[in-house]
Amino acid sequence: MSAVTALNRNNTAVKRIMQEARELANDPCPDYHAAPLEDDIFEWHCTLRGPPGTEFEGGLYHFRILLPAEYPFRPPSLMMLTPNGRFELNTKICISFTNYHEEEWQPAWGVRTAILGLQGFFPLKGQAANGVGSVEYPVSERKRLAQQSREWMCPRCQISNLECLPGHPVKDKAPSESPSDTQGGSTTQMEMSTVSLERSLTNPDQPSSPETSPPELAVHDQERASDESNHVSVNRAHGSTLRPPLLLDTAICVLLVLVVGLLCRRVL
Ligand SMILES: [Zn+2]
Repeated sequence: MSAVTALNRNNTAVKRIMQEARELANDPCPDYHAAPLEDDIFEWHCTLRGPPGTEFEGGLYHFRILLPAEYPFRPPSLMMLTPNGRFELNTKICISFTNYHEEEWQPAWGVRTAILGLQGFFPLKGQAANGVGSVEYPVSERKRLAQQSREWMCPRCQISNLECLPGHPVKDKAPSESPSDTQGGSTTQMEMSTVSLERSLTNPDQPSSPETSPPELAVHDQERASDESNHVSVNRAHGSTLRPPLLLDTAICVLLVLVVGLLCRRVL
């Protein structure tokens, strides 16, 4: 920050760079994250999402943007840092708006233009892809590097690409993978998502769930218990009012008859 304050704020390049940095900070794009280094606003570091529908999809690529002292009247230079299979590392990339083609640069363009231009250069093939800083790796190798690039960490920024540019990688990744070899995984993912959905629907918040479901069970149990106890009580009621009195009555009657019989015999 001290370096920034030490800069001449009336300098055209400094004013312009600080204005672009403010704009990018206030209106971030989900496809890239770019900011000037704290100790040198003429060097920016950017993390860019690989273009969707290409072998770079799912990849995150970190590169330097070097702004000349004459910026914006002279173009920035771009140097890739993350292994990617498309651009050479630590080499100024030759694209139309960089310092390799100064005459095509327009001062109205900015850092955003450079980033989007680089993103557009990723999928180019053949003659269009050739130039200083270009490399031609096989598609499989580019895909492998794209997966690895997410965890790649910039030694200067001390932050991984994924930390720098989190977001919607799953949504981007799903269509790129061939459905044949990932069908099992996708179905399990579907199942897991539906399970989690069901969970989130049934348990909107964790604390209430244990309170709601066990009481329902408790109610059922109580109902069952009360039903059972009713049956039991009915049975007991039947037993107490019908069977034992009948037996007792008959026994008492028999005894009475016997006693009366014996008394009659003795008296007579
Ligand atoms: Zn960096």
